Amino acid sequence: GRSMAVFTSGGDSQGMNSAVRSVVRMGLYLGCRVFFIHEGYQGMVDGGNNIIEASWNSVSDIIQKGGTIIGSARCKDFRERAGRLKAAENLLQHSITNLVCIGGDGSLTGANQFRKDWAGLVQELIDAGRVPASKLAECPNIQIVGLVGSIDNDFCGTDMTIGTDTALHRIIEATDAVVSTAQSHQRAFVIEVMGRHCGYLALVAGLASEADWCFIPEWPPPTNWRELLCEKLAQMRSEGNRLNIIIVAEGAIDRDGSPISAELVQKVITETLHYDTRVTVLGHVQRGGCPTAFDRLLGCRMGAEAVLALMEMTPESEPCVVSIDGNQMVRVPLMQCVERTQAVQKAMDNKDWDTAVRLRGRS
Ligand code: ADP
Repeated sequence: GRSMAVFTSGGDSQGMNSAVRSVVRMGLYLGCRVFFIHEGYQGMVDGGNNIIEASWNSVSDIIQKGGTIIGSARCKDFRERAGRLKAAENLLQHSITNLVCIGGDGSLTGANQFRKDWAGLVQELIDAGRVPASKLAECPNIQIVGLVGSIDNDFCGTDMTIGTDTALHRIIEATDAVVSTAQSHQRAFVIEVMGRHCGYLALVAGLASEADWCFIPEWPPPTNWRELLCEKLAQMRSEGNRLNIIIVAEGAIDRDGSPISAELVQKVITETLHYDTRVTVLGHVQRGGCPTAFDRLLGCRMGAEAVLALMEMTPESEPCVVSIDGNQMVRVPLMQCVERTQAVQKAMDNKDWDTAVRLRGRS
């Protein structure tokens, strides 16, 4: 059978364990040898005990756990060719030529780079006498499938990323809790949510919590947002609402590209309306806790599909990402998704908001 390895890289997210479990069990079921690579690319570069063979039972009792049991890390070494050379040497030791990379767009870009370098890396290792010459024929290329694990839902090409649904649940629970206290005291609450440069969590949390206002990076508010915001809040109060909820994405910006922080929004409200205004920065609770049923199932389905994709790949196959599209598992060229994701950022950098919003969507 083939040998494959699974690793989690970049920021962790709930549901990664479900994906790891599914990759291991589908791989074993199909007669493959499956390895864990602990600590993401760092474990691949360092080798040794970081690369361990998985068994059916080694992934029992993890589906309900948040985070990733095989560890995740950021890794400077892997950005350099020398680091990737060591990583290739370690994989060749176990004859691993199939990888499932669970991470964000950075991790997937790294995987793509690794594949591009592969043949050259193997040749270099053979020339240096670090691996036997037979390895080039045995492992001519490395097949790669990516799964997107990210609470931010910041990746183009999939309707949802693994972890987003759970993060939303954490946000909604926290917002509901805040609302119940805000109602007693006629307060305004400014709630900052995660998402890096993506406004998905803020936007959807805003909808689900009946927020009065929501700030997201892809669609900054009009330049007179301070007046508009205060008008809106005052109007809500005059209609009998006892509280205001404002959701701010951590990456929110104005049309000049300057950050709109929760503190800035608080300052605008207190100075203009003199409302008792409190800031709540949800922070890492959003990444924590048990994965929701949705994220467990998404991890299961994506992990199984990743293994099936690897089984159909040849050394010539380009890397793909397993996505959910209209509730179906589909395979999309990895670099197409990464490039589109990067194009959103570029559009935002160029203050081209129409393009940013369009690229974030499906069309
Ligand atoms: P995420 O995967 O969540 O987007 P990062 O952008 O930090 O997180 O990427 C995770 C890791 O992937 C990095 O620490 C690095 O080891 C690797 N990586 C990212 N970009 C590249 C690249 N262009 N070339 C090689 N490795 C990369």
